[in-house]
Amino acid sequence: MAGLPGSARVVIIGGGAVGASCLYHLGLAGWRDCVLLEKNELTAGSTWHAAGNVPTFSSSWSIMNMQRYSAGLYRGLGDAVGYPMNYNVTGSVRLGHSAERLLEFRRVAGMGAAQGMDLEVLGPDEIAARYPFVQTAGLSGALYDPYDGDIDPAQLTQALAKGARDMGAHVERFCPVTQAAWTGAEWVLTTPKGEIRAEYVVNAGGYYAAEVGRMFGRRVPMMVMSHQYLLFDTIPELEAWTKEVGHKLPLLRDVDSSYYLRQEKMGFNLGPYENPCRAHWATPDDPMPEDFSFQLFPDDLERLEWHITDAMARVPLLAEANLQKVINGPIPYTPDGNPLIGPMPGVPNAFEACVFTFGICQAGGAGKVLAEWVTEGATEWDMWSCDPRRFTGFEDHDYCVAKGMEVYGHEYAMQFPHHVWPAGRMKKLSPVQDRVAALGAQFGPYNGWERALWYAADGDDTSEAAQQTWAREGPWFRAVKAECAAVRDACGILDLPGFSRFVIRGPGVAAWLAQQITGRVPSVGRLGLAYFADDKGRIITEMSVARLAENAVLLITAATAQAHDKDWLQRHLGSGLVLEDQTDAWSTQIVTGPKARDVLAGVTDADLTRPWLTWQEARIAGEEVLLMRVSFAGELGWEVHSRVGDTPGVWDAVWRAGQAHGLRPFGMFALNSLRIEKGYRAWKGDLSTDYTVLQGGLERFVDWGKSDFRGRAALMAEQQAGVTKRFVTLRIDAGELDPPYMATLWHQGVVVGEVTSAGWGHRVGACLGLGMLRADLAVPGRVVEVEVFGERVRAEVLPEGPAWDAANARLRG
Ligand SMILES: Cc1cc2nc3c(=O)[nH]c(=O)nc-3n(C[C@H](O)[C@H](O)[C@H](O)COP(=O)(O)OP(=O)(O)OC[C@H]3O[C@@H](n4cnc5c(N)ncnc54)[C@H](O)[C@@H]3O)c2cc1C
Repeated sequence: MAGLPGSARVVIIGGGAVGASCLYHLGLAGWRDCVLLEKNELTAGSTWHAAGNVPTFSSSWSIMNMQRYSAGLYRGLGDAVGYPMNYNVTGSVRLGHSAERLLEFRRVAGMGAAQGMDLEVLGPDEIAARYPFVQTAGLSGALYDPYDGDIDPAQLTQALAKGARDMGAHVERFCPVTQAAWTGAEWVLTTPKGEIRAEYVVNAGGYYAAEVGRMFGRRVPMMVMSHQYLLFDTIPELEAWTKEVGHKLPLLRDVDSSYYLRQEKMGFNLGPYENPCRAHWATPDDPMPEDFSFQLFPDDLERLEWHITDAMARVPLLAEANLQKVINGPIPYTPDGNPLIGPMPGVPNAFEACVFTFGICQAGGAGKVLAEWVTEGATEWDMWSCDPRRFTGFEDHDYCVAKGMEVYGHEYAMQFPHHVWPAGRMKKLSPVQDRVAALGAQFGPYNGWERALWYAADGDDTSEAAQQTWAREGPWFRAVKAECAAVRDACGILDLPGFSRFVIRGPGVAAWLAQQITGRVPSVGRLGLAYFADDKGRIITEMSVARLAENAVLLITAATAQAHDKDWLQRHLGSGLVLEDQTDAWSTQIVTGPKARDVLAGVTDADLTRPWLTWQEARIAGEEVLLMRVSFAGELGWEVHSRVGDTPGVWDAVWRAGQAHGLRPFGMFALNSLRIEKGYRAWKGDLSTDYTVLQGGLERFVDWGKSDFRGRAALMAEQQAGVTKRFVTLRIDAGELDPPYMATLWHQGVVVGEVTSAGWGHRVGACLGLGMLRADLAVPGRVVEVEVFGERVRAEVLPEGPAWDAANARLRG
């Protein structure tokens, strides 16, 4: 096809590995009328200079899924599209220097097994057999990944583009998009070669993604780092060895020393993730050039010196080589280091597939995910880890730079369950931050809101180093136990700023909501839990619904779900209805425990005998509050919702009144323990699109009597066919470690499910897990095994319902 087409169903902006993969996967999905616009030549962005490593390793389930898919795709791609390319599956050896690191390897090997990959944890004396030139002194072991390798990024991009073209797509090079306008029905993109109209657009602009985003009125949360790798000359000994054995060395990653070392021809490629590191284009005196195609930053070896020395000591062969070339290129980072793949927040018919830090190894999977978003509006795997809506707009430039540098400088760091990364903190503060801080709160951010995780006493170790453990117990453990005991025996107060809240008003709001959720809409004065399913019956989200009036509902949802849930509601909002986001206007305290009524009776004349799942307006310290009779902790309790400006007065009054009743503050760690004991699911852990509402054990929230609701047909079909896996609560004979997210469940040597959250239940005195189990095994008393960091331990399926207060008598008390 000659020249720029006048229109296309989808226009992809950016011709790197990711944009090309999006185009290819849209073609595979049968969408042939698609165009890719590239401002220079294909690969001109980060792709041309990438090292081309293709690991499958990730401690994130969804990212591992994506990378595993890429590796599989790349194996067959050359043949599939008729474009031979260099893809060397060499395997990799990932070195560990500590016992904690080996636990990480065991956990990832477990995840790999569940995804059908055979990763192997090696002892120190097994490493040399895999990698003959390494010094093993000081190593605790290694992870061998037979699927790892390297690919030529330019060939990969060209192969994907060829495959897409062969399916009917069009690639227009030297065609920068300079403007975008929404007509109300389609996008009109301006380029020097003319205009092109598109039903959908995709920002695949790599490190230019923020510039591309601006054309759509979107502020992309990102920054740009410089990353270098060093290419070394031929080493005769390595050449001789390679010829003798007939293959290259596996890729070596010394993750505790923070570098990769790959055999490149008969020499080496050494790529450190150094710390201190260097951001680019982050300050006014270093503006981003309009065009950086096929360019590099100047070499900057000084800051890599430690890593070069360390690598030469680890693999002495490297010291024999001459440095031939340095590649120093731009690499974009989001604040959490994961890319953006999915709907462009707040912008119609627009998607993002950009800001990839590991865009070569993720391009294949990303193309699949993006194509599913565009063509089906949903993805096969839950991809929240990459969903653009996980950022909610508070991530300003300084925040993005601070977090990007933190992630880069700790690229291979272990992600410990109780560790809080220190950069970019204190962005959003509770109105009673000073009060809870004075009580010893140790904070962690939730959608930027700082919440107390636990309350330290004098002498407790509150250092960051103490958090860096996989172990259940740390300095917080004793405190959390006492916090849970206070909630069980007296009363606790948890400051919960940043609950996402939306009020929807308008005629017929209840009828509309009934179509959106699987269950019933509460009557005026009552509240309830509501589940939103997609058309396949999969769990989109969970919200508390308070029926404020005949034509008004208040929806309350997780802090981190703010942009996601708002987007979902707005996309499906009925005509005549108005949605108001009140998140920033209100704050919440959870007051819960058997003495909660006595505590609140001292500060309000509200009717505290109103039953569970009701709400009322009341006054505390003269301020208007909303009292909701619910407790995520599973005890008698209320959520006290107050306007931000009123909250300090409300807190002070409740705190004073509570002193006579043993009131003490509790934090998010305690809440997590308490909610697991009640079987209450956490969003994007236990509740995700990886599961249907029925698999999630939420049938009691399904009102089959309704003639229709989103997902009804799919759920009905699933029920008739038989649900294949079911939500269970497990009592786990864990040792010092709790099962991590996606720890696999085994039965008779076969993977039969996974744990979606687990922790110590202080009220029941046991490690409990929530998870999904093959339906035939999901019967009370059944014993299975959970793989906890490589060790299989006994787990018993508990009777259906919560492990604590199964009859909910305490809640209703
Ligand atoms: C030194 C180095 C080594 C690396 N090694 C690896 C590795 O081993 N493995 C790995 O997985 N990743 C690696 N990376 C990261 C990898 O290079 C990137 O993640 C990946 O290339 C991103 O691909 P992309 O398609 O998203 O973006 P890019 O390749 O940057 O492509 C974006 C494209 O968009 C085009 N564009 C921008 N604006 C417009 C516009 N307005 N109109 C039209 N077109 C536009 C650009 O010209 C560009 O071609 C490395 C990065 C560096 C710097």
